[in-house]
Order: sequence, then structure tokens, then C-alpha cells
Amino acid sequence: MTIWNLGSINADHFYHVPHIPAPGETLACSSLRTGLGGKGANMSVAAARAGAHVAHIGAVGPEGGWARDRLMEYGVDTRHIAQVAQPTGHAIIAVADGDGENTILLFGGANHAIDEAMVGAALSSASTGDTFLFQNETSAQGYAAETAAKLGLRVAYAAAPFDAAAARAALPFLDFLILNEIEAEQLGAAVGKPVSEMGVTDVIVTLGGAGCDWYHRGEKQSFSAVPVTPVDTTGAGDTFTGYVLAGLDRGMSMAQGISLAMRAAALKVTRAGTADVIPDLAEVEAFAS
Ligand code: ATP
Repeated sequence: MTIWNLGSINADHFYHVPHIPAPGETLACSSLRTGLGGKGANMSVAAARAGAHVAHIGAVGPEGGWARDRLMEYGVDTRHIAQVAQPTGHAIIAVADGDGENTILLFGGANHAIDEAMVGAALSSASTGDTFLFQNETSAQGYAAETAAKLGLRVAYAAAPFDAAAARAALPFLDFLILNEIEAEQLGAAVGKPVSEMGVTDVIVTLGGAGCDWYHRGEKQSFSAVPVTPVDTTGAGDTFTGYVLAGLDRGMSMAQGISLAMRAAALKVTRAGTADVIPDLAEVEAFAS
């Protein structure tokens, strides 16, 4: 089966600086590292590295061929990634030497040029039993969620970065909602009831180093994280989401999928970087098994 992921593709530019610049300050950077990023790309890489067939629906700019090639190298089906006139989405991330504090400027670019026709064309090849995943870093989400639900796909939504209006619009179409603790509180406040009572069959609230809670029709089960010494927690949630959906796609129970996803996310947390360091299934199975 296929996991269709409508998601962002970004170039993440990490600039290392002596401290976070103050307003008006000009700072020299000691180094620059560029990698593949964007929540959508991270989730596609995670699910593909977990062994799923992942078709990414997205867009890059005229100079973004490298990002599409990188996704392909990681095993993602890139046929539905369009090349558009707008520049590829990117993040400018200043990382302070010493305490690692960061500030991020995010430019959506090509991710916001995805239109309904692109999504409709991709989903016309979807089959019952496939999964449709989306987040909040692209355009055309509402149309895509409604179309996927009408086609009978399992509709999964990672409600990040948090957007109350987008989350509210998505709720009627969801089978599966994944969000972190802060997003769960924000959505609860926006809707006026806890996420476990919003009518979504399966909800997972991730709790960082404390693991996660799974609510099935409102009934809660808690899971402890795999203990590790964290090096870089960026992308932990994206790794978790890709792996849990890949596990379900392979026929695992939710508890088995969560256990696999927690091992994958814990292993990611021991590595610096995002998409480029998401572990593959063999590494995850060898880790803490
Ligand atoms: P991000 O936005 O950085 O991708 P997130 O806030 O969406 O992350 P978290 O709740 O921080 O997601 O983490 C997702 C999962 O990753 C957790 O449920 C847990 O299984 C694993 N994880 C995160 N941090 C740690 C940690 N310090 N130790 C072990 N596992 C962790």
C-alpha cells in the first residue's frame, strides 16, 4: 500500500554564530551547513526508511532539483513533486555556539504553490487501504483532506506547526491525529475540549523524552520513551510520525507501531541533523531491541 504525503520540502541552512543576533546587529558566522528539511520531507524520509512505499506530493523551485533527488535517494517516490517558478522553501537557522540556542526564519516558497489540481492528479492513482498524511506547511490541505476522505483513504494529520484554523478545518476528515503536548493544549483551547474528545478515532500526543499517550476512541494508553542521551531532538516528532504510519501500513497493531516509532525517534535524537540522519529499519531493529 502507499502512504501519500502532502508535505513541505525545505533547504535547511544552519549558520553557526557566537550568539543569537540582537535587532540591528551584524554577525559573522563561523560555518554554514545545508541539509534537506521541512516537516513533510522529514516524514516522507522516515516512512520510506521504515520500508513503506511513500509518494510525496509537493513542490520545489527551479533550483530545487537536488532536494527531489535527495528524497529519491532515501527511497521516496518523487513523481508527484512539481518544479514551480517560486523558490524552494527554506529555513535560515542561526545556532549559537555554546548553548545551541536557535532562531529560525522560515520561507514557505514553492510549498505554497501546491494547488488542488496537483493534489487531485496525484490522488487519482490512490487505492482504498492507502494512507494520506499532511501537516501545516503547504497549501491545498483542506481540499486534499476532503478528497482523501472521500476516496476512503486512512487520513492522518500531524498538526504542526500549530494553526488553529487549519486544525479545526481538518478535524472532520481525520482517522488519525498526531501532535505534541503543546499543540494538543493549543488545539484543546481552540476547540474547547481535549483532543481525545474531538471525534478522531486514534490520537497520539507525543511527550518528548516522556514518551507518548495514545487515545483510541477516547481510551488512553501511555508508552514510555526509550531512554537515550539526547544530542539533537529536531525531527524526533517527524521521525515518530513517519515510522508509526509505516508500521500501520505494514499491518502492525497501533501498540507495535508506536513501539517501533519510539525506537526510531530515540535513535534519531542521538544524532545531529534532520532528514539526512533518520535511521533505516535495520538500524532501528538493531537498536534497543
Ligand atoms: P520535533 O518538533 O522536534 O520534531 P515534537 O515536539 O513533534 O518534535 P516530541 O514529543 O519531542 O515531538 O518527540 C516525539 C517522540 O520522539 C517522543 O514521543 C519520543 O518517542 C521520542 N523522543 C523525543 N525526545 C526524546 C528523548 N529525549 N529521549 C527519547 N525519546 C525521545
